[in-house]
Amino acid sequence: MKKQILDFTIEELEWLFPDLGEPAYRAHQVFDWLYKGVTDFREMKNLPAALQEKLDREYMIYAPKIIREQVSEDGTRKFLLEYSDGNAIETVFMKYKYGNSICVSSQAGCRMGCKFCASTMNGLSRDLTSGEILAQLLTVEKAVKNSLLSERGEGAKEPYATLDPKDWKINHIVVMGTGEPFDNYLNVVRFIQLVHNPKWLNISHRNITVSTCGVASMFNLFAEDCPQVNLAISLHATTDEVRTSMMPINKMFPIDKLLEAAKEYTKKTNRRITFEYTMVNGVNDSDEDAERLVKLLKGMLCHVNVIPLNKVEGNGFDTVSRERAKEFAGYLESHGIPATVRRELGADIDAACGQLRLKSREIAP
Ligand code: SAH
Repeated sequence: MKKQILDFTIEELEWLFPDLGEPAYRAHQVFDWLYKGVTDFREMKNLPAALQEKLDREYMIYAPKIIREQVSEDGTRKFLLEYSDGNAIETVFMKYKYGNSICVSSQAGCRMGCKFCASTMNGLSRDLTSGEILAQLLTVEKAVKNSLLSERGEGAKEPYATLDPKDWKINHIVVMGTGEPFDNYLNVVRFIQLVHNPKWLNISHRNITVSTCGVASMFNLFAEDCPQVNLAISLHATTDEVRTSMMPINKMFPIDKLLEAAKEYTKKTNRRITFEYTMVNGVNDSDEDAERLVKLLKGMLCHVNVIPLNKVEGNGFDTVSRERAKEFAGYLESHGIPATVRRELGADIDAACGQLRLKSREIAP
C-alpha cells in the first residue's frame, strides 16, 4: 500500500530515501514542495522525472478538497475540507494584529458528547493523522495565496513571490476545531512536531494552543512532551452538577480533579492556562457562577476566555448578550482573575463550532 508522505518527519524521509536509491537531500527538496502546498509529485520541478514516478508509486499526498468556503468581512475564512474517504472537517483562517492564525480539527467528529457543541452530534467518525491535520494548514495557506492572486487578477499560480507573507503566512495554530485533541494525542503531538520544524513552517510552540474538554489524565504527559505549547481547558461551569449536564467528561474528571491536574501542569511547566467559559443563558451565567469561578481559580496562573455560546439549532441552548459576557468577565477581573470576552470573528458567516460540517451532512443524502 502507498504511504502518506505528509505523515513523515524529515528525519524519517532522510532514512527512507536511500532505500529508494536516492540521496537524503532529495527528501529536503520534496519537503520544500510539500510545504508549499504542492500535491502532485509531477509538479516538483527540480526532481528527475524518474524520481517523480518512483515517488508516485510509493507515496500519496493528502489533498483535502475544499467543498465550501465562506469569507467574512473581517478576513476570517472558514473552510469545509473533505478527505478522500468522504470525511469532512472544518478549518478556519483568522487574521489578527499579530499575524494569521488557523483553527484546525483533530478528529472527524467527536465522541466527547458536550451537549451544546455541534461537532459531537453525530459522534466520532475517525481520528485524523498528523499529516491530515497538517494538510488542513497547507491547503488553507495555498487557498489564501491563490485568492490573493486572483483578487489582483493575476491568476492562481506559482510563484507567490509577489505576495506579502503577512497576508497569508500562518504563524499561530489553535487545535480547537472538531474533535478532542487528547483523544487523538499521538497524532496531535506529531502534528506539532511537523509544523515546528524551523526549516519549513517554523511555528513556535508558544504560538500553538491545544484545547481540551478536560481529559485530565493527559495533562502530565502533555506537560512533558510539549511544555511550551499553550493549554486551554474548556471549563464552562462552576458546579459538578451543571458541568456534568453540559459535558459528560465531567463524570470521569470532576471539577476538583480537573483543577488539581491543571495545578500540577502549571507546577511542571510554569505556563499560564486558559480556561474557556462558554456562557449559556440560564445555565452557567449567574452572579453566583462568577463568584464560584473566582473561588475555584483563585491563586492559579490562568486566564479566562469568556465566550457567548454560538447557537446551534435544535439543541435547546440559548446564548447570552455580549454585555452580559463583558459584565461576567469584568467581575472576574475585579476579583483578580484575568478575563477577556472572545473577539467575535466571522460573526457574519457560520462561525459556530462545527456548524458548517453539520449543515453539509444535513444536505447530504
Ligand atoms: N474538544 C476540545 C476542542 C474543540 S471545541 C474542547 O472541548 O476544548 C473548542 C471550544 O469551543 C471548546 O471550549 C468548546 O467547548 C467550545 N464550543 C463548542 N461548541 C460551542 C458553541 N456552540 N458555542 C461556543 N463555544 C462552543
